[in-house]
Amino acid sequence: MPVPKSAVIVIQIGGSVAGLLQGLQLKRQGANVIVLEQDPSKDRHSHESGVSIGPTVVKLLEKYDATGRPAAIPARFLSAAWRQRLRVASMVWNHNMSNWGCLYLILRANFDGFESQTVPRPPASKETDGQVEYRPGKRVTGVTYDKDKGLVHVEYVDVLNGDVSTVSSDMVIAADGVHSTVRKILQVPTRRDYAGYIGWRGTVPEARLSKETVEYFSNRLNFTFMKGTYFISYLIPTEAGDIQPGKRLVNWVWYFTVPEGSPEMKEIFTDVQGKTHPNTVPHGQIKPEVWSKQIARYVSDMTPPLAEIVTKTPRPFVTKVGEAEATQSSFFDGRLVLVGDAFTGFRSHLGMASEQAARHCFQMDRVWRGEITQEERDREARFYSKRFLLLNRLIGLTGLGLVLEVCRVLIAYLVLMVQHRLGLV
Ligand SMILES: Cc1cc2nc3c(=O)[nH]c(=O)nc-3n(C[C@H](O)[C@H](O)[C@H](O)COP(=O)(O)OP(=O)(O)OC[C@H]3O[C@@H](n4cnc5c(N)ncnc54)[C@H](O)[C@@H]3O)c2cc1C
Repeated sequence: MPVPKSAVIVIQIGGSVAGLLQGLQLKRQGANVIVLEQDPSKDRHSHESGVSIGPTVVKLLEKYDATGRPAAIPARFLSAAWRQRLRVASMVWNHNMSNWGCLYLILRANFDGFESQTVPRPPASKETDGQVEYRPGKRVTGVTYDKDKGLVHVEYVDVLNGDVSTVSSDMVIAADGVHSTVRKILQVPTRRDYAGYIGWRGTVPEARLSKETVEYFSNRLNFTFMKGTYFISYLIPTEAGDIQPGKRLVNWVWYFTVPEGSPEMKEIFTDVQGKTHPNTVPHGQIKPEVWSKQIARYVSDMTPPLAEIVTKTPRPFVTKVGEAEATQSSFFDGRLVLVGDAFTGFRSHLGMASEQAARHCFQMDRVWRGEITQEERDREARFYSKRFLLLNRLIGLTGLGLVLEVCRVLIAYLVLMVQHRLGLV
């Protein structure tokens, strides 16, 4: 499969981080790209929540971003609090933390010139760029392969009027997330597991916090370990991309064990209207009494800065933590590839989702340039996903103090690395 050139239409299914990173890379290389995104809204509903920008995302943005807009707030340290002790450890660990909405809008500005508060004047396309189209409200419902013509046919429905259409391409990138429709259509065997714990999440404008608390959380990823539960917190830009002191947000995630199917789970995931959500109760939908009860149980165990950010968070949300691992990533002679969360969804501890998506971009680029084969790329993607599935698990279980499970994961990790050394994985 050669580098997609001008006049080649690449279909991307899913217009979020993985799809837009791939789309931007292909556009800059002269390929014509269509993105089909099921969400019809102009302004996508974001959780106004943190996302880590790993080194590969930074590399991609350095290469292809033309907005000049900073996408993240750098954090230099990783620190830990233990129960009421504010700082029991601190080490240098350079990280870049962003806001999903801000990253998405920077990518849209680059990809299809989408105007927003974050990027009011999107950069013009370069002469060598391909033509692109972002089609919102188009839900993909089918994919078939014409082997003789080397074409993948993608069927989609307009979510607003029900019209069904088909578009064909010699390359299709399926970036349709952890609940991937394409993965289901292709019947890819996929392991999906609930981790056994949930993440309460929230952001609070730093302007609402005391100077001491902002100072405490600044310039670091901050872990707070309590009895059988833990928090991670850091500063992020607003969705509009404000990164200056006084305007930023403090973002936190509180990992908390809740058995699947328990009455507690049912209570937490049933919203103010009585609707039970399978994975996430969005902003403003958590029953106030559920949140008050959660805070009341733990607030006296929190450090003062942590208690301040949690109690001052206006609209928390909650999501189940889980994993999804597909067994195969490329199909139809390499003309359809699953990328990002559609291939592997990690537990969120290390913030590796966008990093994996960016790696998938560079990997596919190497395939199209003939530097590696599709099989080599798939092996690389599989090893990376297995490695980071285990590392994310390790961090989560350590934070929750589950010693036996930590040992099991450590052994699995060592076995994986040995297998990799021997060329078995
Ligand atoms: C609205 C939104 C907000 C998010 N907020 C955060 C956050 O605050 N912090 C964080 O860490 N992560 C967030 N994520 C998840 C994060 O983007 C991913 O974990 C990661 O970046 C990998 O991205 P992805 O593109 O592979 O998957 P996703 O980001 O899940 O994107 C998949 C996309 O595919 C679309 N899609 C699914 N099925 C179809 C179909 N049949 N046809 C067409 N399109 C389809 C979805 O609507 C979605 O836009 C958010 C995702 C979304 C969609």
